Amino acid sequence: MRSWADFEFDPEPHRERLLPLVERLQRDRPSTDREWRRILKDHLRPDGGFYSKAEINSAARAWKLPFAAITKPTRTRSGVAPVTLFTQPYACPGQCIYCPNDVRAPKAYLADEPGVQRARSVGFDPYAQTWNRLLALFRLGHPVSKVEIVILGGTWSNYPEAYQVAFVRGCLRALNDFDGSKNPGPIHGAQIEELPFEITDESYNVRLARQGTEAIPLDWPGLHSEIQRQSESSSKLVGLCIETRPDRAGTEEMDRWRRMGITKVQIGVQNLSDEVIRQNRRVHTAEQVRQTLDSLRLAGFKIQAHWMTNLLGADPELDRREYVRFVNEEHPDEIKLYPCQRIPGTELERRFRRGAWAPYSEDDQRSLLADLLAATPETVRLSRVVRDIPKHWVTEGGVDTNLREGAEEDNRRRGAPLRDLRSREIGAEDEPTMPFRCEERRLDGRSTVERFLSVVDGRDRVLGICRLSLPKCPPPFEELAQCAMIRELHVYGPAVNVGQAGRVQHRGLGEQLISRAVELAKEAGFLKLAVIAAVGTRSYYERFGFVECGRYWIRAVC
Ligand code: SF4
Repeated sequence: MRSWADFEFDPEPHRERLLPLVERLQRDRPSTDREWRRILKDHLRPDGGFYSKAEINSAARAWKLPFAAITKPTRTRSGVAPVTLFTQPYACPGQCIYCPNDVRAPKAYLADEPGVQRARSVGFDPYAQTWNRLLALFRLGHPVSKVEIVILGGTWSNYPEAYQVAFVRGCLRALNDFDGSKNPGPIHGAQIEELPFEITDESYNVRLARQGTEAIPLDWPGLHSEIQRQSESSSKLVGLCIETRPDRAGTEEMDRWRRMGITKVQIGVQNLSDEVIRQNRRVHTAEQVRQTLDSLRLAGFKIQAHWMTNLLGADPELDRREYVRFVNEEHPDEIKLYPCQRIPGTELERRFRRGAWAPYSEDDQRSLLADLLAATPETVRLSRVVRDIPKHWVTEGGVDTNLREGAEEDNRRRGAPLRDLRSREIGAEDEPTMPFRCEERRLDGRSTVERFLSVVDGRDRVLGICRLSLPKCPPPFEELAQCAMIRELHVYGPAVNVGQAGRVQHRGLGEQLISRAVELAKEAGFLKLAVIAAVGTRSYYERFGFVECGRYWIRAVC
């Protein structure tokens, strides 16, 4: 078991090496990984290794130097501190032929991926995972007053309701208990038992069934009391995301998710060719995916789609065609884009051995990715490109983790720099340039008209966005009748604590975007405007006249 003492670091014996390092970091203000590493290389530990950022910040704190100045900025550059957690191993109704079968990890993941390792070290306990990530961010000097929690692992809707409720309750309780500046507290959790694991032909679900699961009591009142405590907490939950399959996102699930405070759904789309879906045993249809995306949008959820290239039955041309159709017809908000990789123990591995599937060549992968990046519209955030699977799992035919950089470089060379949202967000160290302007785009979908509003600075960098949905179909919940819906309101730039004014955050951009959303909703004939408020943002929306109404926060627009 890890103890609080594991996180303590006494900088005094290192003063001679660390003080010049801290002073240099404060002077040079490195803003990229490469710059950081160059400086760290000049100030090595006595054993020849690098000092960790937590150690550097510990020293800065101990010697009363302004440690915030030496924080590595990228983690909180989108304005919130991200906390990624993993659920315990559990069965998934999918039979996808490429999906790993590592029963030490939740379905779709591998036990030695860094995030899963952290989760395993505390028995997948949500409280301990949340606390430890907050502490790690805090120790690196990141503000943790606005936190987005991303819960990863298999198919969330397939976990028993009691487990879902207990998991979210644990996350919220840790957020509410955490106040890094005053109360470091103990590290919870226990070392997980190592499960015997070898690669066999037996499926994940069959092997998992032998482990059994503990019965957890259903505790909605416990969850509601943590939601209430958020109003007083110094660490606010500004977004809560889960991942699921397209055939596990019906009205019943969406109702439960809203009652838990979930605001964003990662959904496995992968490809919209029915033949490719069939060959990869996704066990749903393309039409089911489209209907699910429509329902999620009508219910106000932000949608992050997972998309894979190089699946069984695909080729680079099909991948290009289907991706372009998907982004232009289905209008996802965010995408995680992964080339399919061959993992031992999967059905795809067996197909590879029989010659039925092969990874694309490096050149094909790079040119395909360059085209997909270039085809991604300005309204879509490419959150991740290429999954960083530990190298020993994909020794043959693996994907170069620098593929994105290579593809971006190719696009720059051909005069087509990326326009997706992540490429244009203002950076943590950037000063916005006047004049600011508001850009508006209209996207026509089957279930909604989407209005995408963005505030852009004089150098074409995005400072903030609002996704406003104007429904064309009846809403899934009665309180949404006559409502337009703000699905996302986001001001970018480095995170700052609530109450402080940052370069971009807390400058009134959010208020301007809401005002414009009210005008647009009114022009379109809606009587009310709803927002899918995360549990920590409710008091913010109250300031603009929104009141709690069922699962949403709603105000009149006249
Ligand atoms: S739905 Fe996701 S987690 Fe389930 S088998 Fe398919 S890829 Fe794996």
